[in-house]
Amino acid sequence: MMLLTKKMIEIRTILQKVGQSSTLTLPSIVVIGSQSSGKSSVLEAIVGHEFLPKGSNMVTRRPIELTLVNTPGSTEEYGEFPELGLKHISDFTSIQRTLTDLNLAVPDSECVSHEPIQLTVYSPNVPDLSLIDLPGYIQVVGQNQPLQLKQKISELCDKYIQAPNVILAISAADVDLANSTALRASRRVDPRGERTIGVITKMDLVDAVRGAAILNDKQYPLRLGYVGVVSRAPHSQGLFKMGASNLLATITKNENSFFSSHPMEYGPEAGVSVGTTTLRKKLMHVLEQTMSSSLQTTSDAIRQELEEATYEFKVQYNDRPLSAESYLAESLDALKHSFKQLTEEFGRPQMHELLKSELDQKVLDLLAARYWNKPITDLLPPHPETDKIADLPKADSDSLYWRRQLDASSSALTKLGVGRLATTVVATAIQDSVEALLDQSSFSNHPFARSAVMDAASTILNERFYSTSDQVENCIKPYKFEIDVEEREWAQGRQHVGNVLKKELNDCETALSTLETTVGGRRKLREVMSFVDKARKGDVTVEGDGRSGAGGFSAALLSKGREAVFLLPRGIP
Ligand code: GDP
Repeated sequence: MMLLTKKMIEIRTILQKVGQSSTLTLPSIVVIGSQSSGKSSVLEAIVGHEFLPKGSNMVTRRPIELTLVNTPGSTEEYGEFPELGLKHISDFTSIQRTLTDLNLAVPDSECVSHEPIQLTVYSPNVPDLSLIDLPGYIQVVGQNQPLQLKQKISELCDKYIQAPNVILAISAADVDLANSTALRASRRVDPRGERTIGVITKMDLVDAVRGAAILNDKQYPLRLGYVGVVSRAPHSQGLFKMGASNLLATITKNENSFFSSHPMEYGPEAGVSVGTTTLRKKLMHVLEQTMSSSLQTTSDAIRQELEEATYEFKVQYNDRPLSAESYLAESLDALKHSFKQLTEEFGRPQMHELLKSELDQKVLDLLAARYWNKPITDLLPPHPETDKIADLPKADSDSLYWRRQLDASSSALTKLGVGRLATTVVATAIQDSVEALLDQSSFSNHPFARSAVMDAASTILNERFYSTSDQVENCIKPYKFEIDVEEREWAQGRQHVGNVLKKELNDCETALSTLETTVGGRRKLREVMSFVDKARKGDVTVEGDGRSGAGGFSAALLSKGREAVFLLPRGIP
């Protein structure tokens, strides 16, 4: 019987994984209590670790969905935040820190967030339980707290204490039960006291006769009864670093000695329930019962979900029988079909285009390296009237100087590793296209399958990489030394590279004028550029690394100036 809770928790985890958690909620135990009622101490005693945010001004701002998973046979104890992808955290102070950060992340304007934090604790010392810790009710709004905080916390709690959840109402023994905010809230939604467990904390603060009277309370009778606890371990201050299960052991030991010193009031004959261990057992039992009575509703909800999913498939698949295998086969067929289309569209001309523009870029880089990195003063200024950059200069084709320049550039181009460059460009384009195809296919909903196909594609491309680069390199071998170019081809090539260059110049000009607008005018930009240029030549000094500004210019302005100094020579051949 006790396995039911475990199974139900597993089912919930699976449903969460497939994104159906909102359609199906399993009953949980929700923990409510006013601030300082000892709520955190009770929860920590159950878990056996200090892990909840502390601090005088620390108001819990989000519900914590705490799932405890008993791991018999293991010695490890650790927590996980599944939604945040944080796994296997065995340091509970780190869990505490994460919870504090998540709390602080809720903006004041929002007061509290209804979005629960999911935390799962695995340990051989915890029972299988599913608890929801809610923000504590506050009596008086603190000075630095938003005014609506009290109201918002109350609304949030009201949402969670609805049936079929079990309510764990925490009240302190030293406060009159009639004033217990937790019990008052639970009576509103559970007037007959059928699904509320009363926990009376701080039993050590009242004398035993009064303590026993509270546990036997007849004014607020609860079917599931009251349990009295002393969940603060002695010398609580030093507890912070106390080892894991020590906390529960210390509390139990302390409780045993306290309750057994009042056998008349708390002994077996007294007919009251006391102690954290008793509380843990009761919680397991009650949750199990609630789970089993909601089994029918749960299974109905799952069945309905399934029927709806089946219906949707019927609509989408036109009543064709659908199995996992046929779904996969159809998805693969569709992908193959779209891949075939890609191979028809991505042929020689497209590849040619890609390579050409990549090589054009390399030609530009060579030009930049050879001709453009000159100081500003050596360059022609823009035309004084039109302010346009000058036309390309004409080189004398018989000049030995230009012949050598041409030879050096051609050789740099042919030796830059064209084979590898070309293969990389084409392989990247294919890989990107496959990725785009996958995103349009039904595999986009299945991250695992999607990455398997991507991996397969990249493995195939990688395997072919070296031999392909070699082949391309072999093909261009004859051109590396002697290029036999006809006059017509030569003219065409010159024409083309001239166009590429003009386009680049235009691009630079546009970028330059955008820069001018950003810094507030051409004059200003020229001033900064001239400063940057002087600094580069060492005519003026820039203190430090110039990152903090210099010469009366801010650091941002100087960086724009540097950008312009780079662009200007490109803009003026
Ligand atoms: P929460 O604000 O409801 O979460 O309350 P805490 O668990 O933080 O407890 C509030 C204060 O009561 C803390 O100073 C605890 O040390 C103290 N406290 C909690 N449980 C007990 C208890 O059983 N006996 C005594 N004497 N003090 C307790």
